[in-house]
Amino acid sequence: MSRRVGVLAVQGAFAEHERAFAKAGADVFEIRQTADIERSFDALVLPGGESTVQGKLLRDLKLLAPLRQRIAEGLPVFATCAGLILLAKQIANDSAVWFGLLPVTVRRNAYGRQLGSFTTKGQVGSLADVPMTFIRAPAIESVSDNVNVLSTFDGKATGVRHGNIWAFAWHPELTTDERIFAAFLAWC
Ligand code: GLN
Repeated sequence: MSRRVGVLAVQGAFAEHERAFAKAGADVFEIRQTADIERSFDALVLPGGESTVQGKLLRDLKLLAPLRQRIAEGLPVFATCAGLILLAKQIANDSAVWFGLLPVTVRRNAYGRQLGSFTTKGQVGSLADVPMTFIRAPAIESVSDNVNVLSTFDGKATGVRHGNIWAFAWHPELTTDERIFAAFLAWC
């Protein structure tokens, strides 16, 4: 049965996620206001973009608290980059905490100045040779014991799974490799 996937569409790279999830067979809709989350859905996508802007918009649109509750109750979440920052319990170089449900510490713009944006390939869970594009990406500086590391770069975690949350510092939606979306949907 096709999964109903809500993509947060207040700012950032939501269109790319919509395309990728639709191609992987999901029934995709956009989340822009509280009315959009009144119907039930199977998974939430938090796209990349600017986490501070997204967090403030979520708060102003009164989406932050209800979405936080759904995630805390077990709604499957697929997050990339800014989405990972929104989920993190701690941001090393920012005092903000948004959803604060993922027990990791991230550092914003850690792959920014020195390296710029770049693409590499690597293992993601059981998937080999997955292209990973980093754009002013956050570093995952530390993870709690109950967090599974799915991907790494330079010895540091770049993708994690914690219960119902899958979160990546890089952008799977910017490549044509759809395996990770299919894996997430199959797991949902
Ligand atoms: N630099 C952004 C932030 O700190 C994240 C970048 C991205 O989502 N591609 O919010």
